[in-house]
Amino acid sequence: MSQLTVVVPAYNEADVLEAFHRRLAAVLDGLPMSCDVLYVDDGSRDETWAIIERLGMQDPRTGAIRLSRNFGKEAALTAGLDQVVADAAVVIDADLQDPPELIPTLVAQWQAGYDVVYATRTVREGESGFKRFTAAAFYRSMERLSDTAIPRDTGDFRLLSRRALDALKQLRERQRFMKGLFSWIGYRQIAVRYQREPRLAGKTKWNYWRLTQLAIEGITSFSTAPLRLATWVGLASALLAFVYGAWVLVKAMFFNDSFRGYPTLMLTMLFLGGVQLLALGVIGEYLGRNYAESKHRPLYFIQDQRVPRQASPANSQPGHTA
Ligand code: UDP
Ligand code: MG
Repeated sequence: MSQLTVVVPAYNEADVLEAFHRRLAAVLDGLPMSCDVLYVDDGSRDETWAIIERLGMQDPRTGAIRLSRNFGKEAALTAGLDQVVADAAVVIDADLQDPPELIPTLVAQWQAGYDVVYATRTVREGESGFKRFTAAAFYRSMERLSDTAIPRDTGDFRLLSRRALDALKQLRERQRFMKGLFSWIGYRQIAVRYQREPRLAGKTKWNYWRLTQLAIEGITSFSTAPLRLATWVGLASALLAFVYGAWVLVKAMFFNDSFRGYPTLMLTMLFLGGVQLLALGVIGEYLGRNYAESKHRPLYFIQDQRVPRQASPANSQPGHTA
C-alpha cells in the first residue's frame, strides 16, 4: 500500500489548527492509502505546539517537529519535507486557505504518473485589488526575467512524488524560493485548479515588506537579469556621455565657449553618481547572497520531535537534523 505524508508548516496558528486538523483528518480517512500528518511548528510563540501535541494524542497519524526558532516558511517546509519517508508528500498551509478536500484530486494525478501536482487558484478571494495587482505584476516579471518558469497563481500547496522529494532534498541553498525550486527540479508536473478561500482565522504573516523581500528573493535567486541591466544602463550612459563630451569639446575648441555649463556639470555628475550607486547596490545584493550561501549553515534546527503513535515502520526512524 502506498503511503502519503501531509506536511503542514504552522507559525502561530493556534486559532485554526484544530479546525484544520478536523477537515484534514476527514479527507485522509477517505483516502485508500496509509496517510500521516507532519506538523512543523516554526518556532510559534502561542499555543501551537501544545495543540499539535494534543492532536498527536487524539489522532495516531499525527507527527510533529518543532524548530528551534522561527526560521520562516520556506525553511519550515524544507524541514518537513526532509523528514518524509513516504512515497509522496502533500504540502499544505495550516490556515485553511488551501482546501484539504483537494488532496484526493492531487493524489489521483500522482497515481496517473505525475511527480509534481500543484494547485493553481482561480480566484484570490479575500485579498485586496492591490495585492492581486502586485502579485500579477510579480509573476509577469518573473516570467520575463528568469529561465525557470514559475507557474502563476500557485502557492506552495502541492503534491510531490518520491523522486521529486529526493531531488528537492539535494537543493540546499539558503535563498529558498520554494515555488522556484519546486519547478526547477522538473519531472512531470501538472496543475489542478481550485478556488482559494480567505484565511479562516488568525492573520497573514505576510505584510508588504516581507512580500517585497520575497519578490526580490525570487528574482535574485532565479535570475541574474538585474546584473545585466546594470551593464546595459552603464553602457548607455557611457555612450551618451561620450557624445555629449565630444560636443562640449568642439564647443570649447572652436567657439571658445568653455565657461558656462555649471548646471549641466551638476546634472551629469548627479546622474552618473546615482547610476553607479544603483549598480553597486545590485552587485551588493548578489554579493550578499553569495556570502550567505558560502557559509553553508544548516537551514534549520529541530528542537523537539513527535513520531506518529501509529507509525508505519518506515516512519519511526528519527530524521536527521540539518
Ligand atoms: N508559516 C510558517 N512560518 C512563517 C510564516 C508562515 O511556517 O514564518 C506558515 C503559516 O503557519 C501557514 C503558511 O506558512 O501555515 C502560510 O502562511 P500565511 O498564511 O501567513 O501566508 P499566505 O497564505 O498569506 O501566503
Ligand atoms: Mg495563508
